[in-house]
Amino acid sequence: MIPFENTVPYETVGTDIYLSECPFCGRSNVHLKLRTTDLPSIREGRKRLVVFPCCHETITAIDADRDYLLAERPVRTIR
Ligand SMILES: [Zn+2]
Repeated sequence: MIPFENTVPYETVGTDIYLSECPFCGRSNVHLKLRTTDLPSIREGRKRLVVFPCCHETITAIDADRDYLLAERPVRTIR
């Protein structure tokens, strides 16, 4: 079971990956230095450090599906 607070929703444009909103600083349309071609290796269990260019927060992505990156730690507050 994936903990919801560890998920980061993303959007893709071509092979580029965007966050509609950064979970840390709230900036919108954050362009991650990560490509859809990187996702299969994350799914296979290769951890990937992802740096958010907006606020320099980092997450370690440990899994990914079509809509979400799964981070090693909680990235959102349940309100
Ligand atoms: Zn940010």
